[in-house]
Amino acid sequence: MKIDIFRNNFLENIYADQKLAKYTWFGVGGNAEILYIPEEEKSLEKFLKVKPSDYKLFTMGAGSNLLVRDNGIDGVTLITSKLNKISIDKNGLITANCGAFDAEVARFARDHSRSGLEFLIGIPGTIGGGIKMNSGAFGSEFKDVLIDVKAVNHNGEYKTFTNEDLDMKYRKIGLKDEWIFLSARFKTSTDTDKNIRDKMKKIILSRKSAQPVGVKTGGSTFKNPIGQKAWKLIDQAGCRGLKNGDAMISEKHCNFIVNLKDAKARQIEQLGKKVKQKVYEDTGIKLKWEIERVGKK
Ligand SMILES: Cc1cc2nc3c(=O)[nH]c(=O)nc-3n(C[C@H](O)[C@H](O)[C@H](O)COP(=O)(O)OP(=O)(O)OC[C@H]3O[C@@H](n4cnc5c(N)ncnc54)[C@H](O)[C@@H]3O)c2cc1C
Repeated sequence: MKIDIFRNNFLENIYADQKLAKYTWFGVGGNAEILYIPEEEKSLEKFLKVKPSDYKLFTMGAGSNLLVRDNGIDGVTLITSKLNKISIDKNGLITANCGAFDAEVARFARDHSRSGLEFLIGIPGTIGGGIKMNSGAFGSEFKDVLIDVKAVNHNGEYKTFTNEDLDMKYRKIGLKDEWIFLSARFKTSTDTDKNIRDKMKKIILSRKSAQPVGVKTGGSTFKNPIGQKAWKLIDQAGCRGLKNGDAMISEKHCNFIVNLKDAKARQIEQLGKKVKQKVYEDTGIKLKWEIERVGKK
C-alpha cells in the first residue's frame, strides 16, 4: 500500500482512505487517498523527506474555500490545523503558524492590545489559506498586514517570502502551489482594548445581517468582476434561491451556495456552472470561481 512507506518510517497521524467531507465547510467531498495531519513542523519535515516525488500533495487549512469533489483526492492531503501556535515578541510582532484559525489570531492580537487584524475575526479559515487566497473583509486583506511567511516546498526546502515576493492580488497570489506556508509574521499597531473590541463587534454584526450564518457553505462562490458585485449579477440573472438537489443559492446572499443537507459536490458544482451560464446570458460577464474546486472529476 502507498501509505506503508510512511508507516515504515515511524511517521504518525497518517491515515488511508479518509472522508474529507468532515474537513470541509461545505460538508462534502470524497476520500483522501492518504490523509496527514501533522502535530509538529519537525514531523512534516520528515514526512516530506520520506514522500516519494511521484506522490501528489495537496495542502488544506480549514477547508472553507474548497469544494472537494465526490471522487476525492489522489495522493496525500495534508491538513495543517494542528500546526497552530501564535506568539508575540517584546516589540509586539505577532507570529502565527499557518494552521492557526484567523479568528484565534484576531483574538490573540486583541488580547495583546494590537490592532490591524480585526478583520480576521469573521473569516473562517486558517492563516495559510488566508495567505494563499489573499483573503480579506471590511476593507482589509492579508496583503495589508503580512510581513513575511516561512514556507517549505514538496522537497523539504525552506524559504521565507516577503509580502512583495508573494505578489498578492484580489483573492490570489503569484506563487506556485508547491509551497506550503508554515508561519507568518504580521504588522500591527497598538490600540485600546475597547477600540479593538468595538471594531470586531461591528464586523461580527455586519456579517450576521448580510450573510447566511451557521450553514454549510464555501463563502463567496465567485470573485467580484472589476467594478461589479457578483451577488448583484447573480440576483439580476434570477438565481436567488435556485436549487439543484440540496445545493441552493442562498436567499440571504446570492453569492453564497449552501448545502441544505445532503448535497453532493457534483450538485454544488453544477449549480455554480448554471449560475455562471445565466449571468453570462444576462450580462455577457464571465464570473470566475473564488471557491477552489479540487479532486478527481
Ligand atoms: C462562511 C464563510 C465566510 C467567508 N468569508 C470570507 C471573507 O469575508 N473573505 C474572504 O476572503 N474569504 C472568505 N471566505 C473564504 C475562506 O474562508 C477564505 O478563503 C480562507 O482564507 C480560506 O482558508 P482555509 O484555511 O479554509 O483554506 P482552504 O479552504 O483549506 O484552502 C484554500 C486554498 O489555500 C491553500 N492552503 C491552505 N493552507 C495552506 C498552507 N498552509 N500553505 C499553502 N497553501 C495553503 C489550499 O491549498 C487552497 O488552495 C469565507 C468562507 C466561508 C465558508
